[in-house]
Amino acid sequence: MKTLFLNAPSFDGFDGGAGARYQATREIRSFWYPTWLAQPAAMVPGSRLVDAPARGVSLAEVVRMVEDYELVVMHTSTPSFASDANVAAALKAVNPRLTIGFVGAHVAILPEPSLNAAPAVDFVARHEFDYTIKEVAEGKPLAAIDGLSYRRDGVVVHNRDRALIHNMDELPYVSDVYARDLVPEDYFIGYLKHPYMSLYTGRGCKSRCTFCLWPQTIAGHVYRTRSPKHVADEIRHARALMPQIQEFFFDDDTFTDDAPRAEAIARLLGEQGVTWSCNAKANVRYETLKVMRENGLRLLLVGYETGNQQILHNIKKGMRIEVARRFTEDCHKLGIAIHGTFIVGLPGETRDTIQQTIAFAKEINPHTIQVSIAAPYPGTHLYDQAVENGWLVNDGKTLVANSGFQVSSLSYPHLSQADIFEAVADFYKRFYFRPRKIAAITLEMLASWDMMKRRLREGVEFFRFLRAREGRA
Ligand code: SF4
Repeated sequence: MKTLFLNAPSFDGFDGGAGARYQATREIRSFWYPTWLAQPAAMVPGSRLVDAPARGVSLAEVVRMVEDYELVVMHTSTPSFASDANVAAALKAVNPRLTIGFVGAHVAILPEPSLNAAPAVDFVARHEFDYTIKEVAEGKPLAAIDGLSYRRDGVVVHNRDRALIHNMDELPYVSDVYARDLVPEDYFIGYLKHPYMSLYTGRGCKSRCTFCLWPQTIAGHVYRTRSPKHVADEIRHARALMPQIQEFFFDDDTFTDDAPRAEAIARLLGEQGVTWSCNAKANVRYETLKVMRENGLRLLLVGYETGNQQILHNIKKGMRIEVARRFTEDCHKLGIAIHGTFIVGLPGETRDTIQQTIAFAKEINPHTIQVSIAAPYPGTHLYDQAVENGWLVNDGKTLVANSGFQVSSLSYPHLSQADIFEAVADFYKRFYFRPRKIAAITLEMLASWDMMKRRLREGVEFFRFLRAREGRA
């Protein structure tokens, strides 16, 4: 079937794509590569991938595009589901012969309610969907495809689950699809060099953090990995295809979970002289950090979440504050930049623990930070806990506002939805508006004209974000 993979148009600047862990418009315009759509696209010959939000493609343009297609596969998420269902309806209206399928964590967990709420959608592919989509595109009868839920005579039927992929080296390179269908310059992440490219070297995370979406819904708790050589070969290939790429980002849930493998990949990348960055847990040993740093590692994206040990226990992070502190000192010593991510409003949060986390962030001083609001996505343990304890506001249906920015859908007896929302801007201001941080950012800007332009643009966006927050508060 002639197949279009689509990240649908949505809120202005909304990174709801098949690569964003938490779908929202961010304080600074950011887009992740739609890797989860690019992977099946690489397995369907003659297909095309369109990332409408990143490219600025309007609904009218997408509607014109689909006249020639037989199958459209859309990535959806809890915050964007209603809008994606409307897009599907608009596409079906112009091309009633079109088969439309949804993929992503939301439909993996809620296949039947999703199909019932989106009559234009013909099927949803549950959990890990690469081969499921490949088989649909090959025209295999829907009844014979594992991992599929679809309508038969008006009734939703669920085929048996699809087995997880264990030989990750059998998956074709996503970089071929990126080079063919995407424009690397469209993809910005504030703390990565521009243009960057993100991809996975493995799927799954052995940790069981209660709020974390993908391991609980799609990728599972076994870290299934590509061989170091397969990864290094793709990087070489991607550099030849897209020589403008300044930095590669390994978006595996926790790239450092398998330290010997991380070191092996680092050494192979070191031979190529590549700059790269990755996700890490704040428990990597100094020796591993050193090998990675000596072989091109520039930055680690680290989920600290909170500076309160009890909350770390509550969310099953499997992390001790002292270990995170030591790890951060090691990174500073080795010159590894850190983008630290924090969450406000997790179970056990109080006004005091928010202050404690802000103080912790200032003390360990990552290069940059991201502050998110705890988001109870269906399919996570946090969501179940919120339902059981009556913490959900509006039944958890509002994860983002009409602007696409995150809002809190949790409220506790001792900490309101508004307290959580307001803490985000306060956190940013108290972290960034310090003489030490302002001096570091100024020095960085003075060192490069490109960085100067970029930080000024981001500064304007950031102040706009703060003003919008204050206006709403
Ligand atoms: S360690 Fe990171 S990726 Fe793994 S479950 Fe926890 S938050 Fe998710």
